[in-house]
Amino acid sequence: MTGSNIENDLRVGYTFDDVLLIPQRSTISSRKDTNLQSNLSKNIRLNIPIISANMDTVTESNMAIKIASLGGIGIIHRFMTIEEQINEVLSVKRSEGIMIDQPVTIGQDGNVGQVKELMSLHKIGGILVKDDLNKLLGIITKRDLFFEYDDKKSVKEVMTKDLITAPEGTSLDDAKTIFINNKIEKLPIVDSSDELVGLITSKDIYKRDKFPISSKDGKGRLRVGAAIGVREEDVDRAIKLTEAGADTIVIDIAHGHSNHTINMISKIKDKIGKADIIVGNVATAEGTKDLIESGADAVKVGVGSGSICITRIVTGAGVPQLTAISDCVSVAKEHNIPIIADGGIRTSGDITKALAAGASTVMIGSMLAGTDESPGVIVSRPNGRYKMTRGMASLGAAVDRRIKETNSIDEQEMLEYVPEGVEALVQYRGQASEVIGKLVGGLRSGLSYCNAKDIIELQNNSKFIRITGAGKAESGAHDVHIVE
Ligand code: 5GP
Repeated sequence: MTGSNIENDLRVGYTFDDVLLIPQRSTISSRKDTNLQSNLSKNIRLNIPIISANMDTVTESNMAIKIASLGGIGIIHRFMTIEEQINEVLSVKRSEGIMIDQPVTIGQDGNVGQVKELMSLHKIGGILVKDDLNKLLGIITKRDLFFEYDDKKSVKEVMTKDLITAPEGTSLDDAKTIFINNKIEKLPIVDSSDELVGLITSKDIYKRDKFPISSKDGKGRLRVGAAIGVREEDVDRAIKLTEAGADTIVIDIAHGHSNHTINMISKIKDKIGKADIIVGNVATAEGTKDLIESGADAVKVGVGSGSICITRIVTGAGVPQLTAISDCVSVAKEHNIPIIADGGIRTSGDITKALAAGASTVMIGSMLAGTDESPGVIVSRPNGRYKMTRGMASLGAAVDRRIKETNSIDEQEMLEYVPEGVEALVQYRGQASEVIGKLVGGLRSGLSYCNAKDIIELQNNSKFIRITGAGKAESGAHDVHIVE
């Protein structure tokens, strides 16, 4: 008889609900004293260990901006054209910075209609006007367009010409003083020959003051990642995304422990500058080892763990998530490479457990899919408000993808498609900052129960206890009628 020997090979795989963390005598006086910084990848450190998932119902620029403002990072999904994905990355990069070094501009012969299009495409409220020699001529803001109904009117007629500018090297604090004294919102930066070199906006300074722990790159811009697949054209996608400023490229396929993925790492490694490569998904020590030895700067773990995922049912393959994390960490820590726990996070307690098992960060999908910042609209039902989410391997996602790529649909192909994900409604949860705030608060308390002032101490000190079904039932509210 061939095949796996069940008697000898069988291990028990655990997931979050199978265990609890044993409380320990705590020296932490306030949960506010805990430090949630953690490594996303070899060269990128985050202020909170939370990543929004590269799913088309979770992360486009709105979500990425919010998560990075709060100290984590968002990964822009890949189910759009290269140009669209680049624009999403640029929207994040332009949303905030010490100085926006490639501000959106238009020539003075452009017209109002084009300005409106640029504003809506880049989600910005002002466009600088310059000539062919890069000399600054003026600015058009939303206020200039408020009563401007004639889209054909030229930029020259509408723009504001008398501009207050500042020289290269102006600090954000100096810019703040200029904004306050002159009651302006945009400050173009020019060099000694009056050529445009950048733009500082009052919004950037407001955000710097409001979100002091946001994740930023060396230029003060919010960090963002972008996902790619393993097709030949994804090499070009990766190059262009990093040129647009993506801090990390995430090679993302369902079964990441594959030759396709490993080849892709080597194809892009030397072509994407300083961007880190995150690779996944795997669920084993062997998979982690192969990806790290091929050049991965972080490994994403989770096969079948996602809320909208049916891989384990359809294929029979997968590893319960806590065991998967622990197995992958056992190899990754020898190489000093962070592990991302991807999928299955439903509570802040799950995050504490994932990190205690050795993950450095967690990736979250459906919990964020129900927020204002995710793509898609709110759906009202008699029993509440919801948003749509779906697995990236669901039938709906596959159909939309095919229509987008080919403008048609091959019914036979779709009939033969074997989905590994589902489409679902998730409860509407308000702003992402509310969800993240609750998760971060719970995680800080979790650290305090484990006597850990930071995530490294959590990983070193934690002790798990396995629980039974009765223990699990006791863990939630029970034997009461919940009133809220
Ligand atoms: P969640 O936080 O919703 O539990 O899990 C999100 C994760 O599920 C994603 O980051 C991704 O790894 C995984 N995922 C997304 N779509 C699919 C799918 O269609 N099939 C499978 N197997 N996993 C998916």
